[in-house]
Amino acid sequence: MSKYSGRNREDRRLSPIARYLTMGLTLGCGVVLSIAMALWVHRWEQLSRRTQFQQQTDNLTTTLQRNLNRYTDVLLGIQDLYRVADNQVTAAMFGRFVQRALVSYPGIQALEWAPQIEARDRTRYEQDLQTLGRSITTITERQDGDRLIPAGDRPDYVPVTYVEPWQGNEVALGYDLASDPIRLAAMHQARDTGQLAATGRIRLVQETANDQFSFLVFLPIYQDPDASQTSPPSPKILMGYVLGVFRVADVVEESLQDLSYTTNFRLYDLTGRPNQQFLGQYDALSQQVRIPPTPAPLGTVARSPLCPTPCRQTLTFAQREWAIEFDPAIGGIATFPWGATATLVLGLLLTASLLLVLSRSQAEVERTHELSDLKLRFFSMASHELRTPLSIILVSAQSLAANYTVWTEGQTLKTVERIQTITKGMTQLLSDILTLARAEAKHLDIAPEIVDLTRLGQQLVDELQPELRPGQVLKFESHLTSPKVYLDPKLVRSILVNLLSNGIKYSPTPGQIWLRLTSTATTLTLQVQDWGLGIPAAAQTRICEPFYRGQNVGDIPGTGLGLAVVKTCVERHQGTLSIHSQEHQGTTVTVCLPRID
Ligand code: ADP
Repeated sequence: MSKYSGRNREDRRLSPIARYLTMGLTLGCGVVLSIAMALWVHRWEQLSRRTQFQQQTDNLTTTLQRNLNRYTDVLLGIQDLYRVADNQVTAAMFGRFVQRALVSYPGIQALEWAPQIEARDRTRYEQDLQTLGRSITTITERQDGDRLIPAGDRPDYVPVTYVEPWQGNEVALGYDLASDPIRLAAMHQARDTGQLAATGRIRLVQETANDQFSFLVFLPIYQDPDASQTSPPSPKILMGYVLGVFRVADVVEESLQDLSYTTNFRLYDLTGRPNQQFLGQYDALSQQVRIPPTPAPLGTVARSPLCPTPCRQTLTFAQREWAIEFDPAIGGIATFPWGATATLVLGLLLTASLLLVLSRSQAEVERTHELSDLKLRFFSMASHELRTPLSIILVSAQSLAANYTVWTEGQTLKTVERIQTITKGMTQLLSDILTLARAEAKHLDIAPEIVDLTRLGQQLVDELQPELRPGQVLKFESHLTSPKVYLDPKLVRSILVNLLSNGIKYSPTPGQIWLRLTSTATTLTLQVQDWGLGIPAAAQTRICEPFYRGQNVGDIPGTGLGLAVVKTCVERHQGTLSIHSQEHQGTTVTVCLPRID
């Protein structure tokens, strides 16, 4: 038999450290990059939310400011009316003039004319009031800040005389605006500056609901508006005031009705006294202004990343300053970092996919290496393992042909036997290669049939007798519950021949090799035991790989295919293979096959 010592191929698989390092690095980079990206997106989200919030607050403020300006402009228009009519404006003229403004600006509660009446003219004024045909016949004031009563004696009065629209504002007629200190302060401011002047928050005499604040805007009407420009300047004589009456809620709600923002805010009158500053709280969801039972004082809005400084904007009109404090915590812009979360999840998913692809491609590369190694091993083995025996056969046949007349019968028989042995070895080798090639191509079919396993075992033991070296004994015992079993005889033969041949090959002389067959209700066990050179511990994990041989085999011939074939045949039978071996102590190979009788 030719000797193919078969150096084992080196392990070209990636070492576990290299594999874990690659995976670890990929995982680390993936996670770090994902977190970095998520943080970046989070920052970007915060910035864009802040900008969006800023835009909303800017737009809300601008809209409110613009509307307040438009409302107060209406008063300037009425002032012009007084000017062109030389202050001779009748109730009917007033009514007709303000009609359009009332329709265009639904936030205006009322537009009024209140002349300044000196005490001596009160009676004549009250008689005139009666001629207006209204039920009110006297100048009124509030008693205890609530009920209306005839006004007390004062040097002069500023009673509301023209009221548009009339409906809903009836009780205002005759009400002396000078009787209330807040109204009086604004009137004096308007009178002294000649400009529009708004009051702080007030409750209207015509207000039925108690939960609303209002404000008035006064514009003075002088007898001779251009008196100050004459030379020498003559003092202006005040005739009265045109005034606009506004409910805070109506102005805000009307101004913002077309905006679909969801930002809440509170309004404060910065010009007012601290306990009189709160004007109302806008709820974006219901688009309504409310007065809560305990209004929050100015500057108490919680800080938020959307608005790190107090979220405050100011409005100025009619010599007053209002503050809007926006509340970024309620409603408004979503604060959950959806983008950052999605980026993190996406990044981690990408990393996971990358790891999967990487591990697959690593496995693929290893498999390709293995295959190319296998091919290399196969060709070098085939060239050695086939060429050497073929040349021995050729030499033996040539010697036989040349010497058959002179050789004794014994010499001739020995040469023929050598040719037969070598041919058997080659046949076994080719059959092993074929079995593995079929298994690799998934073409190794299993053809089970009823087999007398005890008989088959005995037959193989007999067949292998010629391979035993002097002093070696091949022993057989069968403890099968029933010798007839259902399995593929060719595959079983392949298993047993390979295991027994190994037992013989790697056993010393003298030595025993045992084949034992046992069975349970579900399993058939084929066991081959020897007390030979054993398999080194380091080689045991790879011993079933094709062409792999123990380092201790020395020059014992072999191809490294036998155990690979055994493993393949066992797997086709859906059985298990276990090898217990210790160097210099021997080897026990146990094959368990599922039993089908
Ligand atoms: P071969 O025997 O042709 O080398 P095998 O695939 O049958 O190939 O065995 C692979 C290797 O396993 C052998 O080279 C040898 O190192 C080891 N081996 C198998 N069976 C035994 C055994 N009974 N005793 C010691 N070593 C064994």
